[in-house]
Amino acid sequence: MNQEKIGVFISECRKKKGLTQQQLAELLNVSNRAVSKWERGKNLPDASLMLELSKILGISVNELLNGEKILKSDYFTKAEDRLIELQKKNNEYEKTLLLLEYVIGFSSSITFIILIYIASYLDMPVFIRVLLILTALIIFIVGCMYALRIERIAGYYECSKCKHKFIPTSKQMLFSMHMGRTRYIKCPKCKQVSWNKKVKSNKE
Ligand SMILES: [Zn+2]
Repeated sequence: MNQEKIGVFISECRKKKGLTQQQLAELLNVSNRAVSKWERGKNLPDASLMLELSKILGISVNELLNGEKILKSDYFTKAEDRLIELQKKNNEYEKTLLLLEYVIGFSSSITFIILIYIASYLDMPVFIRVLLILTALIIFIVGCMYALRIERIAGYYECSKCKHKFIPTSKQMLFSMHMGRTRYIKCPKCKQVSWNKKVKSNKE
């Protein structure tokens, strides 16, 4: 996907519609800096905005993603190409997220252990000892919360009974047993509780 090409295309279509960046931004409820970034190819519009944006510009989402008008005969091949490309990007994004989860989980645990170790074995005034233990606890809890949050939103859990894919609630994430990323949770569709595996959004 060529961000710069898309940006130029957005700018062209906007001008054809006689809109300023400010006006387009207001129609979409975003800042005009966001619009300016799209048009300079620094950023892609958020996926949730793409449909609305293409409507306003009088083009299809596919044309938006291609950065050009598409002839009817090219339409389906181009649409498919873009879809595959988007899925690949999404998969890479999820992989990065899950790696980040490990990094955050690991580093906050190590920090916790080191701080607790120092607080237990080194000679120091009581209030510093207490402060160290509190800091360790906060780092650990915040680290765990971030890791859980990432795990919840990256990809889906697949129900082992009915194969339904879903994102669990934060509460389910907090209070469920898990082995690695396989969790013992209730499926919102078939209501059965079982060990559900983590899966990516798209097959590779
Ligand atoms: Zn199910």
